[in-house]
Amino acid sequence: MQDCVFCKIVGGQIPAAALVETDEVISFLDIAPVNPGHCLVVPKRHVQSLLDLNENELVSCILTAQKLARSVMKATGCPGLNLLQNNDRCAGQLVPHAHFHVIPRSPGDGFSFGWRQGRYAEGEMDRLRQKILQAL
Ligand code: AMP
Ligand code: ZN
Repeated sequence: MQDCVFCKIVGGQIPAAALVETDEVISFLDIAPVNPGHCLVVPKRHVQSLLDLNENELVSCILTAQKLARSVMKATGCPGLNLLQNNDRCAGQLVPHAHFHVIPRSPGDGFSFGWRQGRYAEGEMDRLRQKILQAL
């Protein structure tokens, strides 16, 4: 896709600090890391979200993310990591080309998701479970 920054990296039109590459995916260091070593796994084909990935791409993304997770943790000495995947602007996706973040984490690194813990109203959880099951 012409105006897509990740397509330009895939096509070699703009540079990136490349890491693992497979037939389906490329990976490279994020230019504005949450922590040093933060990297991205990107399908070569332009698709917008997780839902658009085919099986080969999905498998390749996850296997590459796991491989990178191991090497990034070894290289940085970070004991933890987050595997993060944003879909749609409302969920924090700024680049509309599907990708996975591999983010090394260590105690006191100052980053937090500010996780919200909501509550279901009486019966709401079961109603929603039924709806999800029907939609499968
Ligand atoms: P997201 O908010 O999930 O769409 O994340 C997009 C990520 O892409 C951000 O963390 C950016 O720092 C990163 N990014 C954008 N442009 C580049 C680039 N040219 N090279 C490497 N990472 C980039
Ligand atoms: Zn793209």
